[in-house]
This record gives sequence, structure tokens and C-alpha cells, in this order.
Amino acid sequence: MRFDIFTLFPAMFDGPFGDSIIKRAIAAGQLDIHLYNIRDYAEGRHRVTDDYPYGGGGGMVMKPEPVFAAVEAVLGPQPGAVAPLILMDPQGRRFSQAVAAELAALPRVALLCGHYEGIDERIRDQLVTDELSIGDYVLTGGELPAMVIVDTVARLLPGVLGNPMGAANDSIASGLLEFPQYTRPVDYRGWRVPDVLLSGHHAQVDRWRRREALRRTLARRPDLLASAALTDADRKLLAEIADERDGEP
Ligand code: SAM
Repeated sequence: MRFDIFTLFPAMFDGPFGDSIIKRAIAAGQLDIHLYNIRDYAEGRHRVTDDYPYGGGGGMVMKPEPVFAAVEAVLGPQPGAVAPLILMDPQGRRFSQAVAAELAALPRVALLCGHYEGIDERIRDQLVTDELSIGDYVLTGGELPAMVIVDTVARLLPGVLGNPMGAANDSIASGLLEFPQYTRPVDYRGWRVPDVLLSGHHAQVDRWRRREALRRTLARRPDLLASAALTDADRKLLAEIADERDGEP
């Protein structure tokens, strides 16, 4: 899958894309990331990319010319026909695992990172095809949201994760929160790994994990249960968990 990322600060991406799973996915050709510095498309000796807002007020606004020039140079005169151009924006629709799956099904996606007070409204109106927010808080720029989106989508691409079964059980992606995980040693400072995980009985391990995933979801994110795909056995487990909770002091 290809990502084209338009930013004023391409160096910010060096760390997150230059290490670990994302680095491996790029090296393996599963992920193709192109970064474009919007400043390279600005005119004039000073290559100005931002200016004061009409009407006054604080902060600077990203000018339309360099952004249009950068996007059209890369995606052509009808950018939306080549790839969706998604603006990182706290006003956009909320990014989620479901949106990540939507994007992972596409061959190419372009991300536009705002900065300062944001972008000239004509960029939003005339150029971008979608807007995504990573949460109800305001960051200094769209670079971190773009990294979050690339990272989340990359995990869904075939071959990127060594063990895709791991992702199937992931919190949120599976519809529930994930069960607790343990690794060696069996005993750490007297805190033991639950016996069932050492038993070698796969059916019992699966049942324990499902039960713990349901227990955790009920305790921390009961809202997820309304849309989770629950079996009759799950509902029975949930009833048992609720009974146990009722019995607690
Ligand atoms: N003045 C803008 C507003 O009130 O809507 C906020 C601008 S913010 C300081 C600068 C840039 O950071 C935005 O253009 C956007 O690209 C990015 N950004 C900030 N918070 C974000 C969020 N929660 N999700 C996605 N992008 C965000």
C-alpha cells in the first residue's frame, strides 16, 4: 500500500518510520511511503508557506498555493481521482479501527498535515476529499496523526505482522478488550502466571481467554458489548461474570 504524506516537517517522520515493524514493512515492500515537503513547492526566495489570517486573530494559516502545487504535482490535476486526500484535522470524522480497515483496503492514500492555526479554508473546500481526527484534543500539527494512521493501517496489511492471529485478538479490533497476556518467568517475585495458561489444554486456555476478555470489557468498556459479535456461550459467561461481581463485597 502506498501513502503520500504532505507536510512542512518531513524530518518528524524519521523516527517512527525508521524503526521496528514499519521499517521492516517498508524494506519488504509491503508499505511504500512518500514524504513531500510542502515548502519545496512554495514560490519566491523565502518559500513562504503561511501568512496572517484575514480578519485578524492570533497564529498563522497555511497558504493555499504551496499546498495545491504540492498535491497537484504528485497526484495530478484531479488528485481525488488518484487517491483520497485526507486532511488531518480535529474537526474531521473520528479515526478508529474501522476507519483503519477502510483505508487498508485501498491501494493508495494521501495524507495532508496541517500546522500552526491550520489551513486556508479553500484547501478543505476544493482539494481534500476526507478529514480525520485522532481524538478530541488539539495538537500542534497533523504529523503525529498521520503517523498514528499509517501505523494503525500498516498492522492490517497482509504480511506486516509476523503473527496475524495476534492482531485478530487485539483490543477494539476483535470487538472486545484483549485478555491478559503473560510471558516467562512463571513466577516473578511470587506473582504467578495463571495455572490454566501452563496446562497445555488449548480448549481451556481459549475459554479462559474469552472469559477474561469479556470480564475486562464489561468492567472497562461495557459500551463495546452492544456491538460485539457475541455467541450464546459468551452471553452465558457474561452472566456468570455479572453474578460473581454481584457476590463481591
Ligand atoms: N485552529 C484549528 C481548529 O481549531 O480547528 C486547529 C489547528 S491545529 C493547532 C494545527 C493542525 O494540527 C491542524 O491543521 C491539524 O492538521 C492538526 N491536528 C491537531 N489536532 C488534531 C487532531 N486531534 N486530529 C488530527 N489532526 C490534528
